[in-house]
Amino acid sequence: MTRKLVAGNWKMNLSLPEGIALAKEVEAQLLANPTGDVQVVLGVPFSHLTAISHALEGEVAVSAQDCSANESGAFTGEVSAMMVASTGAEYVILGHSERREYHGEENALLAEKVNMALEHGLKVIYCCGEVLSERENNQQFEVVGDQILEGLFHLSKEQMKEVVIAYEPVWAIGTGVTASSEQAQEMHAFIRSLLQKQYGVIAAENTSILYGGSCKPANAQELFSEKDVDGGLIGGASLKANDFVAIINSF
Ligand code: PEP
Repeated sequence: MTRKLVAGNWKMNLSLPEGIALAKEVEAQLLANPTGDVQVVLGVPFSHLTAISHALEGEVAVSAQDCSANESGAFTGEVSAMMVASTGAEYVILGHSERREYHGEENALLAEKVNMALEHGLKVIYCCGEVLSERENNQQFEVVGDQILEGLFHLSKEQMKEVVIAYEPVWAIGTGVTASSEQAQEMHAFIRSLLQKQYGVIAAENTSILYGGSCKPANAQELFSEKDVDGGLIGGASLKANDFVAIINSF
């Protein structure tokens, strides 16, 4: 079983035709040069999920960037986990710092979203990470520990098999400032130690822990060479096929 996974997060970018073209280009490059054991995922806007899921040949999986904590009903503008799953998407990104910051999403709500996603057969990419002031005050382990405990640790060992964790220091997202590979490794090892305490060695060893935050072709290899860094959640650089594939090929 591989832990290696690279996921793109397109955020709110690209028209549908542009998105289809980019997804197909990424997949064509990967088919021409197979990555072996790296799972590749594209996190696309809700409006693009169905068309991109159908345009792809199965080499690349598709992810939503959020889903509702509710099953169905009067929640105008929301998209449920069942709806996401019905498009052919296999993953959902939950708890991205932009959702936490702009939509006030807290760990308790995210725990409900995680439950809903898993109930509908989606795999979850659960994001965590401290803001700059928290790191400056050396609170990063406490913050990330709470995000994981409160958002995920109600799950059973079986359910945790469907969860990928993405450590994304908020000060590194979209800023061009990357965490050093030592900082990433230190936090990833901490997260794995939490998993080990809660779920045991095997579950901890089998969980993919991704790094996210200004990851690009120039720094991916160094980050991915760390023992506990199993891949990346890639924002800006996932919008260019060549850059994204170069990151995937950094393993
Ligand atoms: C992200 O938004 O998840 C992200 C990591 O963005 P970027 O790579 O652009 O920093």
